[in-house]
Amino acid sequence: MEPLSCFADDRNKTWCIHCGGTLVSLKTNRDHVPTKKLLRTPYPNNLPVVEICAACNESFSLDEQYAVAFLSAVLSGSVDPQAQLHPAAAGILLKNEKLRVRIDKSRTSFRTISGETRHRWAPERERIDRVIVKNARGHAFYELGEPLLVPPKSVWLCPLVAMKPNERIDFEVSGDGAALWPEVGSRMLQRAVAGLDLEGPWVVVQKDIYRYSVMEDDGIRVRSVVFDYLATEVEWDA
Ligand SMILES: [Zn+2]
Repeated sequence: MEPLSCFADDRNKTWCIHCGGTLVSLKTNRDHVPTKKLLRTPYPNNLPVVEICAACNESFSLDEQYAVAFLSAVLSGSVDPQAQLHPAAAGILLKNEKLRVRIDKSRTSFRTISGETRHRWAPERERIDRVIVKNARGHAFYELGEPLLVPPKSVWLCPLVAMKPNERIDFEVSGDGAALWPEVGSRMLQRAVAGLDLEGPWVVVQKDIYRYSVMEDDGIRVRSVVFDYLATEVEWDA
């Protein structure tokens, strides 16, 4: 990705965007947004990073492992580490038998009319939502310099394949263009002017693996598509 520095309001860089703690008084970490395990190696250069407190950083770790392993299992149709389409998930499932069993139990199998076996998977929404909101907060802060210290108004997730055609069009293209007038000096403005890593409104972190968009209008709306499978949207009021 293109290296971008943010000149947006330095006042906003004082707090941990997750707990509101004052960063100078806390042990801090550089946190990748999106979560690095969601990506494939070799990682793109200049991945977006935000500084957050170490306690928050660590608190996301187990949910991140779950989310990566669950999504990969759904796409691979199995919790077998050898069968994973996403390499980071193979490592997580290999090392963590409890998690493997837990995700496997969330699967139900059924036969189609033509006799094929298919699976349905029940996500632990609270855990997936935590990871999606964590990344969304990070994207909004990285792109706009906006710390979103209150809970989001809404969190929405849907596999792309389960969306109706008009929902899909709205999800993919809305916010492209006039609605996007970010603050001078923000990374989002630099991207918009120069088209850096942008495809329409989307910042492409890794093709077919992770993309996101940040829109500022009445509030802030962050969307992402994970593994070209899961569509997400998190909204905050102005
Ligand atoms: Zn924190």
